[in-house]
Amino acid sequence: TPELKDGKGFKGHDMLAPFTAGWQSNDLHPLVIEKSEGCYVYDINGNKFLDSLAGLWCTALGGNEPRLVAAATKQLDTLPFYHSFWNRTTKPSLDLAKDILEIFTARKMGKVFFTNSGSEANDTQVKLVWYYNNALGRPNKKKFIARAKSYHGSTLISASLSGLPALHQKFDLPAPFVLHTDCPHYWRFHLPGETEEEFSTRLAKNLENLILKEGPETIAAFIAEPVMGAGGVIPPPATYFEKVQAVVKKYDILFIADEVICAFGRLGTMFGCDKYNITPDLVSVAKALSSAYMPIGAVLVSPEISEVIHSQSNKLGSFSHGFTYSGHPVSCAVAVEALKLYKEKNIAEYVKSVSPKFQNGLKAFSDSPIIGEIRGTGLILGTEFTDNKSPNDLFPPEWGIGAYFGAQCEKRGMLVRVAGDNIMMSPPLIITPEEIDELISIYGDALRATEERVKE
Ligand code: PLP
Repeated sequence: TPELKDGKGFKGHDMLAPFTAGWQSNDLHPLVIEKSEGCYVYDINGNKFLDSLAGLWCTALGGNEPRLVAAATKQLDTLPFYHSFWNRTTKPSLDLAKDILEIFTARKMGKVFFTNSGSEANDTQVKLVWYYNNALGRPNKKKFIARAKSYHGSTLISASLSGLPALHQKFDLPAPFVLHTDCPHYWRFHLPGETEEEFSTRLAKNLENLILKEGPETIAAFIAEPVMGAGGVIPPPATYFEKVQAVVKKYDILFIADEVICAFGRLGTMFGCDKYNITPDLVSVAKALSSAYMPIGAVLVSPEISEVIHSQSNKLGSFSHGFTYSGHPVSCAVAVEALKLYKEKNIAEYVKSVSPKFQNGLKAFSDSPIIGEIRGTGLILGTEFTDNKSPNDLFPPEWGIGAYFGAQCEKRGMLVRVAGDNIMMSPPLIITPEEIDELISIYGDALRATEERVKE
């Protein structure tokens, strides 16, 4: 259990997380998770926690869905591995490709490329776009525009696309072909008197100005999460995607939707693209694709792009890219079953039906003097702690307010994501109304304890 005595200088282990993710060390006193059951996880001491982040925004079907386990077991028994290179592949990989193309209805997509993660999916996007432009004889159309505060992954290229300084500083990133435009966070960045629509118009204009300054013939693609996740849960302001899509279309720039968090029902629609009328050229998915039971990601490619890549007249030859575990049969078998379950459970409709309880119940705490903003949609929500209701009056980082709140939740049996004074939640999509009540109740108690700490 984290030590809570440190007062405002409290440092929970989440404070260290950005620097330690993936590293294992007993010095960090990690919470060792042993078992999961629905929306709950248990540590090695038997403590039970409501997992308000669904692992890392990914265990959409919760902890012990027997059909996913059965799909994995059956596939392991039959064919634990074969690759998908050249003209070789496996049945689960073909089945998943067909199913995912069917399920994505925001527009028709042509082909799927499987990866092991969201980061690899976004790296693959860059290579696909470069290859496509090279095949079309426009090798100078190479640059990518992403957005400040976005998160697209941790490999060199996906970290470059990400708009979080912590992923760039000390690593000599971003790569020089990546540019960043405005973060679409209305509350934090709007001008006095500016409406959401006016804010969106200004951001689209800024994007256009950046494109013109760089030269439209040099810009290959724009990448965006429908709702920004790790940057603090930032849903787009009204009319944002409509305006931004018009700009990129005007300059023949491809639109990549990073659906790694939003896809498969999280926002109350099957994809984030459905919610915001995005018609992308390329889409990245991962996480809930297999409900995280096995690692897998995918890139959905438009028919126009896949036709160029596979055309006989394309002199470049094959798209020389792939991972040993691309289309891993066990991951694909699990993902096929996950997509079946989303369909049978009508998961997007279910999220739509329970999300008002989740959103309204938590947004009712917006009056708290230590909360600047609570924002979200569907089953994803962010809380930002600031003073005086102002985006500019940040609490001193050394007070560790976010970490303190996170520890208060943990003490009461709930895990949340803490990033500085941002708290993020995205529970499993199967969360029941009773579990939402419990989540809200723990949040409220942890908030009151944190308010007291701030007053001291
Ligand atoms: N894109 C988005 C929007 C994400 O949230 C993440 C991970 O959180 C990624 C990409 C990277 O995915 P992975 O961690 O599977 O590489």
